[in-house]
Amino acid sequence: MSGKNVMGTGSLQPSVSRLQQETQRLTRILEISQVLTSTLELEPLLQQILEAVTELTGTEAASVMLYDERAGDMRFVAATGRNSQELARQNIRVPITGSIAGTIFKTRQPMVIENVDTDPRHYSQVDRKIDFKTRSIMGVPLLIKERPIGVVEVLNKIDNAPFSVEDTQVLSTLAAHAAVAIENARLVNALQRAYQKLNELDKLKSDFISIASHELRTPLGLILGYASMLKEEAGDQVDEKLDVVLHSALRLRGLIEDMVNLRHIETGEAELELAEFDMRDLVQAIGNDCENLALAKAQSLTLRLPPAAVPVRADRSKVALALTNLILNAIKFTPNKGRIEVALYPRDEELWVSVTDNGPGIPPQDLERIFDRFYQVEPHMTRKHGGMGLGLSIARGMIELHGGRIWAESKLGQGSRFTFVLPVHGPPAGRSARTEPM
Ligand code: ADP
Repeated sequence: MSGKNVMGTGSLQPSVSRLQQETQRLTRILEISQVLTSTLELEPLLQQILEAVTELTGTEAASVMLYDERAGDMRFVAATGRNSQELARQNIRVPITGSIAGTIFKTRQPMVIENVDTDPRHYSQVDRKIDFKTRSIMGVPLLIKERPIGVVEVLNKIDNAPFSVEDTQVLSTLAAHAAVAIENARLVNALQRAYQKLNELDKLKSDFISIASHELRTPLGLILGYASMLKEEAGDQVDEKLDVVLHSALRLRGLIEDMVNLRHIETGEAELELAEFDMRDLVQAIGNDCENLALAKAQSLTLRLPPAAVPVRADRSKVALALTNLILNAIKFTPNKGRIEVALYPRDEELWVSVTDNGPGIPPQDLERIFDRFYQVEPHMTRKHGGMGLGLSIARGMIELHGGRIWAESKLGQGSRFTFVLPVHGPPAGRSARTEPM
């Protein structure tokens, strides 16, 4: 009995230890996979991958080299083994022609060289520079979507045994991990650069708006001043050309004010001047102001207001600007004889205001984008309507300053509804606001 037992254990022993080794390898690879998904810092990650590769293949050293497009050669980005820190410190390069790494890179094939001294492709200068002796090399290409970007190599099996199939598997698996890490880091880098560029452009645009609006204001003020004076002097005999001048100058002033307002919102300079007022009164007043414009297009402009006053604590002129922009848009985009309705209704601690029209409507994919600066559904050059595409972003800015919300709903061909909601008692604590003296 006992003899049989011993025999049985004896034959199981090698496969048990093989299984143990395999488990250890897989656990290590799994560990690396977990690190890979949890960090975007490339160099420590590559270093960790190489340490695992060195350990699992039982080698003395490992390295990752990346192809440098400008120089046309390879440079070390991570390495383990004796004096490995020298590789990056001395900025050591490996040529594509006349090196094992270069051959792997060019052929995109793994390579095993058991004795580099007999291989003429071996580039021995690296050894000399860092005082290391390479005896054998196993390397695989680093591929991103089939495109080679570099090479991973392990050097010198510790027991001088030949490289095994398992070694190749470990190296290939971990090289694939390294390639993903490098690709991620490159993508993040590219994204950061694009973001930075975007910020610079945005600043340039803001500066331009700021300078242009400032420089335009003074001459425009003069035009408006003199035109108004001339109109007053002309009395009843006022020439309609003068009205055109005045009207155009006023429009120009509106556009400049839009740019200034937008800049104030963007830079966070916009401050609320809070006071208590009657929202019903404000909606009524703006409705009256816009009535003539609607009448000119034979549109009906209906106000649906509650029977009693609706007190709210807000910045009256900023809310007025938001509501005016919504009503003017409704008038502008709705064809002649269209219907526009402005409704005000208190709801709990909030105030809801909506502007509904039966105009052309807005495509679903544009419902959010129309609130972006300069965004217009119709292409600018071919559009029928005037405007810079700032009205809605200003309206959103003004409402959000109050801690409110604004959005659009629409059915193409049937019309649009814009709604904004304001907190009745003013913005929630923590928002910058100046309270008007009573
Ligand atoms: P502008 O009116 O100067 O173009 P806005 O920011 O006020 O800029 O509006 C952005 C875009 O949203 C408009 O160009 C238009 O395409 C769309 N839009 C706004 N209001 C309406 C509406 N009532 N009906 C249809 N489209 C609208």
